[in-house]
Amino acid sequence: MNARIDFPRSLLVGGHTGKVHLVGAGPGDPDLLTVKAARLLRDADVVVIDHLVSPQVLAQIGPQAERIHAGKQRNHHTLKQHEINALLVSLARQGRQVVRLKGGDPFVFGRGGEEMQELVAAGIEFEVVPGITAACGVSAYAGIPLTHRDFAQSCTFVTGHLKDGSAELDWAGLARPRQTVVIYMGLTALAQICAKLVEHGLPADHPAAVVQQGTTAAQRVVTGTLADLAGRVEQAGLESPALTIVGEVVKLREMLDWYGVQPAALPVPASAELSEAFA
Ligand code: SAH
Repeated sequence: MNARIDFPRSLLVGGHTGKVHLVGAGPGDPDLLTVKAARLLRDADVVVIDHLVSPQVLAQIGPQAERIHAGKQRNHHTLKQHEINALLVSLARQGRQVVRLKGGDPFVFGRGGEEMQELVAAGIEFEVVPGITAACGVSAYAGIPLTHRDFAQSCTFVTGHLKDGSAELDWAGLARPRQTVVIYMGLTALAQICAKLVEHGLPADHPAAVVQQGTTAAQRVVTGTLADLAGRVEQAGLESPALTIVGEVVKLREMLDWYGVQPAALPVPASAELSEAFA
């Protein structure tokens, strides 16, 4: 690894130093990559890969690119965050076009901000390419609109990775009616999260869902209520990555489920309903 030398930024940008592109890979389906992300993956010199990126997205990387797995995938060495930061700086200083590929959107629970701060400190040029965050991609493929005029006027994204118990989340705020709560990284603490929401005022029969590996062929969805969701999810054996969606909007899945559903199985609206819908 190169020793760290602090050149002035003005000497580095646009000159002999490479650039780091912090790219959102979306939730799994490669068709959900942005046009810009797909182009950068095709042309990169080196791609530093997060553990959440799907094999189908990795297949879009050009054959010339070196691949470095930085994530926590089994059989891969896990780099600590400060090692990843140093690696990005070092690769860029070799004059290479670096793609730092993150699941979903790099600025949503992705530590993208921390990595970019390090690049700024080292005077390395960078850009950020947003991706479809799991909340948006996964809910769409599960047939659950995050907002709906009849059910939810706001939507909150939180991390369910509870460090010391549950103290750090604003449970009273999350239990407010007419909103949707999307919980990233919440599978381990699912029972505790559901219990806290009920304790703070949501009804035990409030609808909720867990979606495993959304937008991929391995997508599985379990729906239930705050009272029974954790048990159902355990029984079904769902695993990470999984996203939890809490709110009345979950009920809409009964009608709007579309992903992987055969066309013949979709309900055909009666003609009167159709003309009303298009009126
Ligand atoms: N930056 C990412 C989130 C990283 S945190 C984004 O914007 O989506 C990792 C968490 O994201 C997982 O624990 C899970 O809760 C969620 N997640 C990511 N991809 C997912 C997928 N395909 N299906 C379900 N949950 C997913």
